[in-house]
Amino acid sequence: MTQTFYFLHTTSDRAWQTDDPQQWLIDHRDDDLLAPARERLVLSPDDPERCLRAVLRRCGLVLVRVLTNSQIVIRHWGEPTPGMRKWAKSFGWNRTGTGVVFENLKTGKVAVHQDGQDVLLHGESVGLTFPWVAYETKYERRLAEEVDDHDAASASITNFEWEGSPPERLTWRVLKAIWFAELVECPNCDVPLVLVSFGWQRGMLSFRSGRVVRYCLRCRRRFEVNEDRPLAWLADTLPAPLRPSHLRLWDTIPINWSVPSLGHARPVQLADGERS
Ligand SMILES: [Zn+2]
Repeated sequence: MTQTFYFLHTTSDRAWQTDDPQQWLIDHRDDDLLAPARERLVLSPDDPERCLRAVLRRCGLVLVRVLTNSQIVIRHWGEPTPGMRKWAKSFGWNRTGTGVVFENLKTGKVAVHQDGQDVLLHGESVGLTFPWVAYETKYERRLAEEVDDHDAASASITNFEWEGSPPERLTWRVLKAIWFAELVECPNCDVPLVLVSFGWQRGMLSFRSGRVVRYCLRCRRRFEVNEDRPLAWLADTLPAPLRPSHLRLWDTIPINWSVPSLGHARPVQLADGERS
């Protein structure tokens, strides 16, 4: 049975598949890519291990060996991970449950990742308790109005408030409007991410950036980003009737949406008489 290997070039993110790494090196020894190790490839063509070490050390390549469809071994010299995610996406390894073994030829260290998500996938892992099915169902029906859309979405978190809605949570109605309005894709799967939470906190002296948390319903990873102009972002994303009325900080502060500047410098547009 033939085995599958990939050479990856970590700085250019290029990858080459082969079933015979040594033959691949010999066949490509005149390429510019392998120039730093060419002398070794010419001197020791019958010593695969020496050739490989020279190439991994000098040419910025890593070698991926596929053991099974859920197990890979990565031999490398330097830091291999940035390009690994691009490779995983290109060749279908951007899925959960892949065991990854890193064999560092420079240090002799072997690192075993039972589930290699964190090295093969962008984003962070999500705890098992997240209500995936509820979000999948609501996302499928995002264009429909449902009787329970006024309910709070479990696992959502916000410090914005809507009159008449439960505090600290987003309602499905608001989430559906956001899902409809925005298109942010999962870097692993290229499918739309689903916003779950957003908030805006104040530090000791000034406002911090807003935080927006989105999840991917396919690879089930979590992505958190800063939003420097959270009110402007909300104004762009939500129609006026669905915008929050207040922000909960040390107190509940009304938001005045009619003030045109909603930027970071004058973050909360306090309604008249509320400034303190
Ligand atoms: Zn994804």
